[in-house]
Amino acid sequence: MADLEAFRAETRAWLEANCPPSMRAGAVAVTEDDDGSIWGGRKAKWTNPEGKLWLDRMAAKGWTAPTWPKAYGGGGLSGAEARVLTQEMGRLKARPPLMSFGLWMLGPVLLEYATEEQKQKFLPPIVRGEIRWCQGYSEPGAGSDLAGLRTQAVDKGDHWLVNGQKIWTSYADQADWIFCLVRTDNSKKHEGISFLLFDMASPGVEPRPIKLISGQSPFCETFFTDVKVPKEQLVGRFNGGWEIAKRLLQYERQNISSGGFGGGGGGYDLEHAALDYAGKDEGKVADADLRARITAHKMEARAFAMTVRRAEEESKQGKGPSAATSIIKYAAAKINQERTELMVETLGSQALGWEGEGFKPQEIMAMRAMLRAKGNSIEGGTSEVNLNVVSKRVLGLMDHQ
Ligand SMILES: Cc1cc2nc3c(=O)[nH]c(=O)nc-3n(C[C@H](O)[C@H](O)[C@H](O)COP(=O)(O)OP(=O)(O)OC[C@H]3O[C@@H](n4cnc5c(N)ncnc54)[C@H](O)[C@@H]3O)c2cc1C
Repeated sequence: MADLEAFRAETRAWLEANCPPSMRAGAVAVTEDDDGSIWGGRKAKWTNPEGKLWLDRMAAKGWTAPTWPKAYGGGGLSGAEARVLTQEMGRLKARPPLMSFGLWMLGPVLLEYATEEQKQKFLPPIVRGEIRWCQGYSEPGAGSDLAGLRTQAVDKGDHWLVNGQKIWTSYADQADWIFCLVRTDNSKKHEGISFLLFDMASPGVEPRPIKLISGQSPFCETFFTDVKVPKEQLVGRFNGGWEIAKRLLQYERQNISSGGFGGGGGGYDLEHAALDYAGKDEGKVADADLRARITAHKMEARAFAMTVRRAEEESKQGKGPSAATSIIKYAAAKINQERTELMVETLGSQALGWEGEGFKPQEIMAMRAMLRAKGNSIEGGTSEVNLNVVSKRVLGLMDHQ
């Protein structure tokens, strides 16, 4: 305990000295690229040099991946120390030094399934934010039924030859590498899938951005035409990719649940928003109905945060996340959608602005966050699919499919 307190003091002093002022802006939305969050990679623009400085300083300590082993560039911290780091960063309202599918999804499965050589090659650049990864899972016709995927990888002796198409590949046009599910045996469904890593700059890889109604293009269709992938970039067993795919989804769902969902009103608290916009009565939110609903939501969100914390503790003590992450992912989607809808309601007509001088940043953010949150019950597995996982893998009910 005394050691932990010493660690806290050291960490606090280090963060105070090393977190640049513009990196102390508080909570940021985590899925949009244009909000100043740091995603790194070869294509990073570094419009704010302090962002690069913050990433480099944190990465040098391994604190972008606090609990990963030092041998792979991680911080080597215990769970308790990592929690102290999170608390101290929260105290300073420090921005995350790196947003990364590599940190949240790929790295943890590489630690479990990759060869030593693969770990040495791929993990340190993830920690340093040098390589940005995207996730090549979904295909037209293979979303919820992911094991129905058809992108082919054919064994050509010294390499795999990949042909096919992915869809909804978040930030494929910004990414440097892809972790990709491919079919390596057409005679079996789940047992005919392998897990490949390859460079998005390989000849034959073509991400085409999908323009959304918002004007943004966070997703791509990603086409592969005769892409040559070196043999050693297969992770795990040949035809053993489904096990890794499912494990990665557990990490994805765990991460989404512990705050990985896009914006909740730019860090603007619902209660303060209601006091500012919906009127006060003796220091309380005047509208009794709105007050009651915000209170109920905050209680639910608080209870949920504590449940997530407990599940994380259990996962650290056991063998990592389990199928129970589906319960949490389901609830996280619901709570985030409720919160963003309540925020729009609270701001009233001021939430209707999309851009322009008549609207403050938190007002514009509120509407965007509410619309973005609609995807929460789809990404990382839909709510219906997660309920199926809960019924089969958590409650042990019969599979009627
Ligand atoms: C914001 C966002 C980011 C994403 N990023 C990525 C990414 O980076 N990489 C990637 O590979 N994919 C990504 N996706 C895709 C996502 O994983 C799929 O959209 C999702 O798995 C659903 O697949 P689908 O769109 O094909 O819908 P479908 O599978 O066609 O589902 C349609 C509807 O049918 C329901 N349904 C389907 N099967 C069942 C069933 N067995 N029981 C009950 N209901 C069922 C679903 O719940 C849904 O309501 C992203 C999606 C979103 C929204």
